[in-house]
Amino acid sequence: MSGAPDWFTRGIGHIWLPYTQMQTAGDPLPVARTQGSRIYLADGRELIDGIASWWTACHGYNHPHIRAAVLEQLGLMPHVMFGGLVHEPALDLARRLAVLLPAGLTQVFFCDSGSVAVEVAMKMAVQFWLNKGITQRSRFVAFKGGYHGDTFATMSVCDPEEGMHGLFAKVLPQQIIAELPADAPAAQAFNALLERHAQELAGIIVEPLVQGAGGMLFHDAEVLRHLRAAADRHGLLLIFDEIFTGFGRTGTMFACEAADVTPDIITLSKALTGGTMGLGATLATRKVFEAFLSDAPNHALMHGPTFMANPLACAAANASLDLFESEPRLAQVAAIEAALARDLEPARSFPRVRDVRAKGAIGVVELDRINDPGALRRRFIEAGVFVRPIRNIVYLTPAFTIGEEDLNRLTGAVISVLEQWTRL
Ligand SMILES: *Cc1c(COP(=O)(O)O)cnc(C)c1O
Repeated sequence: MSGAPDWFTRGIGHIWLPYTQMQTAGDPLPVARTQGSRIYLADGRELIDGIASWWTACHGYNHPHIRAAVLEQLGLMPHVMFGGLVHEPALDLARRLAVLLPAGLTQVFFCDSGSVAVEVAMKMAVQFWLNKGITQRSRFVAFKGGYHGDTFATMSVCDPEEGMHGLFAKVLPQQIIAELPADAPAAQAFNALLERHAQELAGIIVEPLVQGAGGMLFHDAEVLRHLRAAADRHGLLLIFDEIFTGFGRTGTMFACEAADVTPDIITLSKALTGGTMGLGATLATRKVFEAFLSDAPNHALMHGPTFMANPLACAAANASLDLFESEPRLAQVAAIEAALARDLEPARSFPRVRDVRAKGAIGVVELDRINDPGALRRRFIEAGVFVRPIRNIVYLTPAFTIGEEDLNRLTGAVISVLEQWTRL
């Protein structure tokens, strides 16, 4: 890349990028800094950010309140191990999360990323049964369109057809992948499936209301009530993976609130620190927790990431929760939903557009397919926006603090780029 900074030219040959065919992919963009809803490139260009760094930066980048909290914590203690030691940022955060989430989800286990939070949830569910002396309940029901992470256990509960992990099918534990019970026939089929498999199942795992990485697929709250009832009928643990939907993204603080359903275990990450750094949390009900209380040392939860409950990350998360309390985030999300629904609507009439939809701060234009996503990404960059289509969808998940003008420019760029693209 001409005019690229020195650090770029010297280091680029050594880097291995995510989900990227390194032989054919063009160069990534060198970023110098970020602020609010803007990404500033090393060559001086600036992009309006449509993705909020994989849905994490819900208050925009570099929010002064989060920065101040992290800086203060940095002076006191950047890290201390969480084995046998605890600290104020983690205990404050645990208490605040327990208060925010539906009553009953009171026990918090911290880790360092979303995938690990899901690994811990799955391990909790399996060990819940093992600790009761029940050894055959070790499998999960998960759903088509679902995404729960890139580590081995989490890959096994992702949609196997959706491409990202298909290569590993033979080495993954075999889970049961079902259709979401979104209508009467699917609900019947789901009930029948559980009847057949209940005795070998530890639990059910689902992304409530919106399946994110699988294609921003929306479903009704009724689906979650059906899952809760089905789980209760068979004594299964219900796991909500709110790593994407948590912290306001779908319009309520957590998606489970909209359905008025309390899962047995919930996973959080992504926007937990307001996009500042990696942190994950797995919360469980007292019922789950109590299955781990006994005289037997090996009934303890056998997990402990080195950087779990990192104090800097917990300080960032506490500051992010302050902002949800002191600033009108959910009202901003509602305004973004209205703007996305209105301003993406014109795409519905473009050839090859299959659907246009919005929920909370998520806007989606679904195409029949996107043959050359790299070329489409480049068009967006030329239009001054950072948008990263996945599979057959172009989506926007901006920061909740994005200004009206920037949001206008984002939706305007999506419409004008797609208007030309869909005619090709
Ligand atoms: C991103 C995501 C994960 C994985 O989180 P990582 O931090 O990338 O490991 C898991 N579940 C859902 C729903 C996600 O969106």
